[in-house]
Amino acid sequence: MRPQQQEGRAGFDLETRAHMRSIIHLEGLGTKLIPNPVDSEPVSLDLAQGTWSILGLANQISEDVNMKFTLDRAVSRIEALASKASGARDLLDFYHHVLIAQRGIYGSLSRGALIGDLERDLRALRPGLRTLLKVARDQGTEFLADGARALLEASDTDLDEMLLDYWENPSDVQFFAKATVQPYALLIAERGTKHGGRVADMRENRCRSCSGKPQLTYLEGQEQEGSTRRMQCATCLASWVFRRVVCANCLEENPRKLGYFSSPDLAHVRVETCETCKYYIKGVDLSVLGLAVPLVDEVAAAPLDIWAREQGYTKIELNLVGL
Ligand SMILES: [Zn+2]
Ligand SMILES: [Zn+2]
Repeated sequence: MRPQQQEGRAGFDLETRAHMRSIIHLEGLGTKLIPNPVDSEPVSLDLAQGTWSILGLANQISEDVNMKFTLDRAVSRIEALASKASGARDLLDFYHHVLIAQRGIYGSLSRGALIGDLERDLRALRPGLRTLLKVARDQGTEFLADGARALLEASDTDLDEMLLDYWENPSDVQFFAKATVQPYALLIAERGTKHGGRVADMRENRCRSCSGKPQLTYLEGQEQEGSTRRMQCATCLASWVFRRVVCANCLEENPRKLGYFSSPDLAHVRVETCETCKYYIKGVDLSVLGLAVPLVDEVAAAPLDIWAREQGYTKIELNLVGL
């Protein structure tokens, strides 16, 4: 028997999504999104008044404290954000539990011997997967909890197969596999081991370590010194340098086809759109908010995803909360 796979958007059923939408409209951005480059047309947002309290953190003093990504930093960051959040509190609480579980998985895996080929390391990943299934069962939406309960009944062989399927062909709707593989693949990438069992994809919008798609993009370094644009991999969380004005999906280079949208309330996160392929990715500017941890701030800026979808854009890779 094959384990039940998650269908649709990971993490959120329709009811939850409708709820999210209502949260955004009630407490949403409240103001226009302002396009950054001169070529973009301003887009008005007709959202209700109010402030999404998490956004206040964007006004903190910029500090050049960008450091290497670690799950420890991600957990600290989400704790700082969640304590001030209102609108997206449930979402951040859930992601907080996931990040804590992932940090634990990373810690136990780092104490063991890994080969770097997922098929041969599967045994080491089983406890982590079961931990994440329990997190989803206890803290996830009904949709995710139902999936977790079914998978907790599945055999090791079936669960192994689910992880392998994901590894060979990653998909952002496979929440459990993606969340389990991330800390494993991060460790492998940090050790510089070549990821076994993956077909290498040399395109510049694919991860140098594992050929994964970008989860997000971020700018690091101070603007006056010329900041560097990087992509963070959705599969292994490693990052790589990427050209500044290029679509992360179809590699469109014409600046007139590329749009950048941000909210004054959320100045360090922007939506980067492409009119050629109609895809988007969210970008975090660490020169605006050095305290940000892109992986976490990307999730916390959920209203921008709702907005982008309403404009007809598709996200290159959904994050672990399904947005
Ligand atoms: Zn990767
Ligand atoms: Zn494109």
